[in-house]
Amino acid sequence: MRFSASGASDPGRNRARNEDSFLVDAERGLLLVADGMGGHRGGEVASQLAVAAIGDYLRRSGAGGDAAAAAPGDLLREAVEAAHRELLAAVARDGALAGMGTTVVGVLLDGGGPAAVVHVGDSRLYRLRDGRLELLTRDHTWVGEQVAAGRLSAEGARVHPLRNVVTRAVGCDPTVRPEAQETGVEPGDLLLLCSDGLTAMLSDDEIRSILMSSSEVGAACRELIEAANARGGVDNITAVVARLEER
Ligand code: CA
Repeated sequence: MRFSASGASDPGRNRARNEDSFLVDAERGLLLVADGMGGHRGGEVASQLAVAAIGDYLRRSGAGGDAAAAAPGDLLREAVEAAHRELLAAVARDGALAGMGTTVVGVLLDGGGPAAVVHVGDSRLYRLRDGRLELLTRDHTWVGEQVAAGRLSAEGARVHPLRNVVTRAVGCDPTVRPEAQETGVEPGDLLLLCSDGLTAMLSDDEIRSILMSSSEVGAACRELIEAANARGGVDNITAVVARLEER
């Protein structure tokens, strides 16, 4: 399916560095957002390395063409595992990077089938369809687990003091646990991939109205970032928006 996509990232109003990274690879139908963590330069290095490694893995495996050897969801999961190994190798080479890690959310729009989705951590994928905004990923966070268990509301999680505790990451731990899924896409759908610096500042309703009113995908990314900064911009903010067009 054809699509138009754009991405933007901003350090926000509170942080000197931007530890978020993103990729829009229109040729392969690959969209990525990563939110790095770790002291020193670790966070920046982790998210940049992960995005580059996932992109490289999918290029080598022929994703987006007829030569792909595996299903898109399997390729995306393998790509995240490859990125995880690259982060561990980078830490082994440079001890100053010890403890670095990153979230990742990725979408592979491969041909006319459903979109493959993978995520680790609290970067999110939303889909806007017929004026309804739906969150398609489940945060790998302590508060996210409380929401899933019915012990906390989504709005309560957004302002909870432990909201930043991530229970899964790329890097950091010996093993990575990517969550992969497929989701149907239709012409007219808007997909939003974002870091928690966006969702910590804006409610789902606010995100929905910006996506509904913006003229095109690049403007949508800029307007989302402006709105998050207007609310305080306490963290780095990244948004990738794709609009599905005709088959
Ligand atoms: Ca963040």
